[in-house]
Amino acid sequence: MTQSTPTQSADNATTQPQARLMIGTELAAEMVTKAAVRAEALRERTGVQPCLATVLVGDDPASATYVRMKQNRSKKAGIGSRSVVLPAETTTEELVAELTKLSEDPEVHGILLQHPVPAQIDERAAFEAIAPAKDVDGVTMHAFAAMAFGEPGFRSCTPGGILRLLEAYEVPLSGAHAVVIGRSPILGKPAGMLLLASNATVTYTHSRTKDLADIVRQADIVVAAVGKANFVRGSWLKPGAVVVDAGYNEGNVGDVHFEEATEVASLITPVPGGVGPMTIALLLEQTVDAAEAQTAAGTASV
Ligand code: NAP
Repeated sequence: MTQSTPTQSADNATTQPQARLMIGTELAAEMVTKAAVRAEALRERTGVQPCLATVLVGDDPASATYVRMKQNRSKKAGIGSRSVVLPAETTTEELVAELTKLSEDPEVHGILLQHPVPAQIDERAAFEAIAPAKDVDGVTMHAFAAMAFGEPGFRSCTPGGILRLLEAYEVPLSGAHAVVIGRSPILGKPAGMLLLASNATVTYTHSRTKDLADIVRQADIVVAAVGKANFVRGSWLKPGAVVVDAGYNEGNVGDVHFEEATEVASLITPVPGGVGPMTIALLLEQTVDAAEAQTAAGTASV
């Protein structure tokens, strides 16, 4: 894997950043190319084109942009998409009915429910309406259990992407102390589970954690999944720590103070271009996995 050094500030040679960048863009591009080859091979062999259904509830512009981005990338990888857009006032029952229909549709191989969903919807009930065989975003309890037990299955895309990035950069996980900041069901929690399955010693932290900076200072690997711009400061890091910034805040800013962190860390993901592209790449890869599995099982149709 190519490893790059962050741009050096020209006016201050004494503050030369030390950390190398973990570039997600490059690895993600390789993953998407491979997924595209497999999608085409499946189509030629069986006539089945992998199809990802995206479900968007409401009119949040950021969510609409994410969905469009995922559809465009799918198209480039030879993956078809089915777009379902529901009004903001959709009820849990209506959303569950839509997801159940897609789960039963043999022409749909993967389902992505864009989240967050509007407040009146029971998000967990909606996620659980996605058939585990089509849960290519890794949001169901089935997927979480597989990640927690270290069993094969679809991974939550951002945590799965983070693990692929750490593996590609040959970051030693076994015995390493990983501190995960954030415990959301789609990011922090499964990220910790995947690190644990790779034999890291995992500490979860969250909004009620006391002495957070002291805990982060003990970490060989820090995963920041907080949703607060520049939240993790350079002074919180142990020298040589590996820093994964999963945050994405307004203005392309991560959850880690990048300039400070590069002075201390050994490896760091940039924002953008680190974790973000890996998330979409894994979604596409898992959609092709799902299409292949359903075709082999005889449950997919052309
Ligand atoms: P979330 O559901 O809002 O969860 C945030 C987590 O951070 C919660 O567990 C919360 O703790 C914790 N937290 C909040 N304030 C804290 C504090 N002061 N100290 C320690 N922990 C604190 O967010 P999310 O969906 O996990 O997303 C996190 C970030 O990742 C966001 O920036 C989001 O945009 C980004 N993201 C990126 C991708 C990607 O593809 N790159 C995908 C998804 C999300 P409590 O549980 O105690 O409330």
